Amino acid sequence: MIIGLTGGIASGKSTVVRAFESLGVPWVDADDVAREVVQPGEPALEAIAERFGTSVLQENGSLDRRKLRDIIFNDPEQRLWLESVTHPRVRERLLEHLARLQASQPAYVMLVSPLLFESGQDALVDRCVVVDVPEALQLQRTQARDDVSESQVRAILAVQLSRQERLSRADDVIDNSRSEAEMREQVAQLDRRYRELSQP
Ligand code: ATP
Repeated sequence: MIIGLTGGIASGKSTVVRAFESLGVPWVDADDVAREVVQPGEPALEAIAERFGTSVLQENGSLDRRKLRDIIFNDPEQRLWLESVTHPRVRERLLEHLARLQASQPAYVMLVSPLLFESGQDALVDRCVVVDVPEALQLQRTQARDDVSESQVRAILAVQLSRQERLSRADDVIDNSRSEAEMREQVAQLDRRYRELSQP
């Protein structure tokens, strides 16, 4: 069984997946895999450099993510092109990672993805769990963690699915608006449920 874990910016996905990990649950993060497919030597990076020129590369040949982001930020056509190059490769690589995690036959594995629904990666999983916090807390926790302005966080919130939409697509919800101890209790409860569900 594969459980997809998602949530908006700074909802606590990384913190929550570490709580699952401490209960022995293997996981892969779609963001890490998205970075993997544009490493030097990867066909996706070659295609990107061919389309946008070597100015999107750093001196050591790796992708200048900020430059690329600037190019596609206000250009839906370029964004779609980029996604058409990267998404199939991310999907393929994710399936490989998930298969590797499943090789040791754990009760279940997790796919952590900030854009689980937006990217269609929910099609790869059996159930979706959403880490939920109110928007005000997302703003507060992002600003406490990163050096960003409120308007930068709001811009990110604007391109992510709304809280309501995300919740409506969830099979399970973890309320991460209170203490980490309370989050861990919910994780332990869900872990028991997922282990039960994974029994043949
Ligand atoms: P992103 O989408 O930006 O990758 P994320 O969803 O993975 O973020 P985390 O990095 O896990 O979120 O958490 C965001 C911040 O909130 C971190 O600084 C984390 O320590 C803090 N945090 C997470 N859960 C709680 C909690 N229950 N109580 C207090 N702080 C928390």
